[in-house]
Amino acid sequence: MEQWQFGSIIEGLKSIAGEKSVLSDKESLLTYESDGLTMDTAVPWAVVFPVSAEQVSEIVKYLTGNKIPYIPRGAGTGLSGGCLPVKGGIVISLTRMNRILEIDIENRFAIVEPGVLNEEVTDAVKDHGLHFSPDPSSGQASTIGGNIAENAGGPHTMKYGVTVNHVLGMEVVLPDGDIVELGSSTLETQGYDLVGLMNGSEGTFGIVTKAIVKLIPLPETYLTFCGIYNSVDGAVNTITQLFKAGITPVALELIDKVYLKGLNEAFDMDFPTDAEAVMIMELDGPEEGMDTLREKVIDICRENDMRDVQIAADSDARKKLWTTRKHATAALGRMTPFYYTQDGVVPRTRLPEMLKRIREIARKYNITIANAFHAGDGNIHPVLLYDERIKDEKTRVLAASGEILETCVEMGGTISGEHGIGSEKKKYMKLVFTVDDLEQMKDLKGVFDPEGFLNPGKIFPEEN
Ligand SMILES: Cc1cc2nc3c(=O)[nH]c(=O)nc-3n(C[C@H](O)[C@H](O)[C@H](O)COP(=O)(O)OP(=O)(O)OC[C@H]3O[C@@H](n4cnc5c(N)ncnc54)[C@H](O)[C@@H]3O)c2cc1C
Repeated sequence: MEQWQFGSIIEGLKSIAGEKSVLSDKESLLTYESDGLTMDTAVPWAVVFPVSAEQVSEIVKYLTGNKIPYIPRGAGTGLSGGCLPVKGGIVISLTRMNRILEIDIENRFAIVEPGVLNEEVTDAVKDHGLHFSPDPSSGQASTIGGNIAENAGGPHTMKYGVTVNHVLGMEVVLPDGDIVELGSSTLETQGYDLVGLMNGSEGTFGIVTKAIVKLIPLPETYLTFCGIYNSVDGAVNTITQLFKAGITPVALELIDKVYLKGLNEAFDMDFPTDAEAVMIMELDGPEEGMDTLREKVIDICRENDMRDVQIAADSDARKKLWTTRKHATAALGRMTPFYYTQDGVVPRTRLPEMLKRIREIARKYNITIANAFHAGDGNIHPVLLYDERIKDEKTRVLAASGEILETCVEMGGTISGEHGIGSEKKKYMKLVFTVDDLEQMKDLKGVFDPEGFLNPGKIFPEEN
């Protein structure tokens, strides 16, 4: 685009959203060149901050009319490049649409704007004994709009389900500028499940401008503890044995040896650094019977190579354990200048084999790989440590991460558990989908976005 044309586009956006609601200077735009992922970068042409669905609609119509791509963005914590303007274009930031509009305690739902942060919903209702269940580790920073777009999961989704299971309805601005309402505040809706369709659509079907989210009761009590394991296999076998015994923990989070020293230093923990793995386990439910259940679980853990157990004695200790888990990756910053988080899934029972393969891949590419993951879901998150300044190291990390995803598929799993495909993983889509599958998905995208200006360059492999 010529500079004079660009200037007039910026003026057009300002006339819709307001003088102070458009960023177009180079320095400010650099802030938006990446998301939580460190590999892909793309600087937007401008960023606009609407405050209402009507403004979003006007912006979308204006940009489409001028044949300019646009990309919805929440907090930018995504880990697959979903909010990056990889084909150029204007970022529409939803962060100023950050109000909780309604809380209905009796009917257990809340209506929120898309820029409300995940944990803000629970904070607003926990005194009423309720919470918004999906709890990504990024919950302090990520937005409800981003959670919906990525169908976010978290430690507690093993028992309670991912974001799609907790969204009742939404308001969406479609690529033609129409503002539509999908679903409702009741549990059942008629017709196609378009709310389900929007969840996990990675900002490629429309822009969520309002969400009706489900609130569910907090359990009467939690029992949280950490098993110290002599072997990763032992920890994973524990999971299989717990399910066999008919016990469904609310969370099972495995952290491997590579992390332990960093976690001790960063969070004042005392994990023995000669352990092979620690597993954070949580049970929830009525207080009555919880002690008996705990003994049963600990017996199963001990039969599976657990050498010690640290029990969270009170809510502060529980909070500390969860902070340690949720911020674990950041602690790796003590060990490495750069890291790259991968996300894949294998059937739960194949986790020991998968971790062995990850160790082999690390050796093959001469890099260190740390693992902290939602073990109960078979959702792995290998973190590949590297130093961009060392020749070829980034290339080796990318090759290793591709091999990890191929191994997941080989084992009957898939290429993303919760971070989405975005720009990062589009080249791996052919590992799990045929060309015909991809064409059908493109047709679906075309129903919503026939002109293709909404978040282009995502999900589909370039050559397809
Ligand atoms: C430290 C860390 C821990 C994490 N832990 C987890 C975890 O446990 N579980 C998990 O699932 N993810 C996790 N993530 C990934 C990330 O936080 C989630 O994908 C989150 O849902 C992204 O929300 P966001 O607001 O940052 O969205 P962004 O990164 O801004 O955008 C993500 C995608 O959503 C789209 N989008 C954003 N807002 C809207 C909207 N209003 N309408 C339509 N599309 C929209 C964007 O176009 C993009 O495709 C983690 C990330 C980090 C950095």
